Amino acid sequence: MFKKILVANRSEIALRVIRTAKELGLKTVAVYSEADQDSAHVLAADEAVCIGPAESKDSYLSIEKLMMAIEKTGADAVHPGYGFLSERAAFAKALEDKGICFIGPRSELIDLMGDKVKARKKMQEFGVPVVPGTDALEDLDEAEEIILKKVKTQKDFKFPLLIKSSGGGGGKGMRKVHEAAELRPALERAQSESLQAFGTPLVFVERYIENPRHIEIQVLGDGKNALHFFERECSLQRRHQKVVEEALSPSLSEATREKMSDIAAKATKQLGYNSVGTLEFIVSPEEDFYFLEMNTRIQVEHPVTEWITGSDLIREQILVAQGHSIALKQDDILRRGHAIEVRLYAEDAENNFMPRPGKIHFLRFPEWTGVRVDSTMASGSLVSSHYDPMIAKISCWAPDREQCRQRLIHFLRETKIEGLVTNRSFLIQILQSDFFQSGRYHTGILEKQDWRPRSKDRSEIFASLCLQDYLRRGAKLYSEPLSTWQEESI
Ligand code: ADP
Ligand code: ADP
Ligand code: MG
Repeated sequence: MFKKILVANRSEIALRVIRTAKELGLKTVAVYSEADQDSAHVLAADEAVCIGPAESKDSYLSIEKLMMAIEKTGADAVHPGYGFLSERAAFAKALEDKGICFIGPRSELIDLMGDKVKARKKMQEFGVPVVPGTDALEDLDEAEEIILKKVKTQKDFKFPLLIKSSGGGGGKGMRKVHEAAELRPALERAQSESLQAFGTPLVFVERYIENPRHIEIQVLGDGKNALHFFERECSLQRRHQKVVEEALSPSLSEATREKMSDIAAKATKQLGYNSVGTLEFIVSPEEDFYFLEMNTRIQVEHPVTEWITGSDLIREQILVAQGHSIALKQDDILRRGHAIEVRLYAEDAENNFMPRPGKIHFLRFPEWTGVRVDSTMASGSLVSSHYDPMIAKISCWAPDREQCRQRLIHFLRETKIEGLVTNRSFLIQILQSDFFQSGRYHTGILEKQDWRPRSKDRSEIFASLCLQDYLRRGAKLYSEPLSTWQEESI
């Protein structure tokens, strides 16, 4: 039974974990880089330790620095959050060896699921359908031969194909191949990217499923038993990164939902999995579903599941790590109403979604029923250029999907942010779109949309108009007419 949790992460997820740990009567330790010394997660913890300079590799990604902080504070458990070291088996192993509890699955399970090819094989053994694909490939002459032969002989393996790194993650290092002539150069590029980004020459190839949905099942295991918390729909993506998530999926049939969640819970049990985790699937328009990968950590979008089930997934994760058996039965897991989450980012939707870190001059979220804001940002906060420029996760619950959608749109509209370019208007446009309203969308839809440049914040447009007006009337230094998008958006 541990008593003091060190949270090896930053920002909203660190704060999120600290709050639940406190509810459980546990002591908390925050770690922070020099860039984060004023962050709300640091202030919220009972103790805080600076672990180095802003660069992640010298702070949040440094196992050595974290070990020193653990020693210094006497923490007897570590919560890794998501990203950073959360899926680094070596970190979990280093803690296990020191008798410190890693709040996550056993290191050998992180290792197994971190290798996408091994994970596919394991899931196949458990009867989970996987995307038709190859083994790990290293020698490219051989790879080309194997792939072309497979295309000829195996009915469900055909172009287009998707080359992936066996160590991949974060939507990086994937390459679509449309025809045989493209294969060799694509393999070469994929392998060199894989080496560079993930340190492995091993790639593999899957059939590219056209217009799929990304649907994932939240699971919880205690090493012996396992259950599921239904699905999250995460098909709204840009460059394979999620933008909007909902629970439940607006378009999945009840029969497929049951099949997928049942299979996911069974596989979790068979793995002897002992934490929260997520099985990601892609689902074809015909509702054939295929396992993609398992994330062996808490997921960014876990709040939508918490909204509809009323559970605290971090609490469940901590209890299991303390050695408790799951007290819940599958039938105890509720599914009530509908939840949607959006990721509010400091980025410029009109300029290829370029990150736009900087100081937030003013930030105010409205008070509203059924809305949860996961954030450490406030007026005066700095969105650092060293990390993911996420400002907040905003999630919302209502008895039905349409009410939830309207509620979130109005909440976003009333949110006041000054000083930064954000993707807020882009998010509102998505929520207002016909495809979102209908609930019928797939992973390619955001890339296909022609986003009209309405996405700058109104306050910014207003400020720029005032300035132009002032200059025109007063100093007469500037007399350019308004550009069309400005006229249109006001
Ligand atoms: P999920 O699979 O949980 O939906 P994503 O794959 O969208 O999450 O995002 C997780 C990714 O976020 C990590 O793989 C990493 O690239 C990035 N990340 C890592 N640490 C953080 C952090 N502290 N805050 C925000 N993003 C992070
Ligand atoms: P990562 O580890 O980077 O999260 P995933 O395997 O989970 O990689 O895939 C990320 C996203 O890429 C999926 O959500 C989906 O949109 C797309 N994708 C992955 N595999 C396929 C496939 N075989 N066919 C079509 N889209 C795919
Ligand atoms: Mg994934």
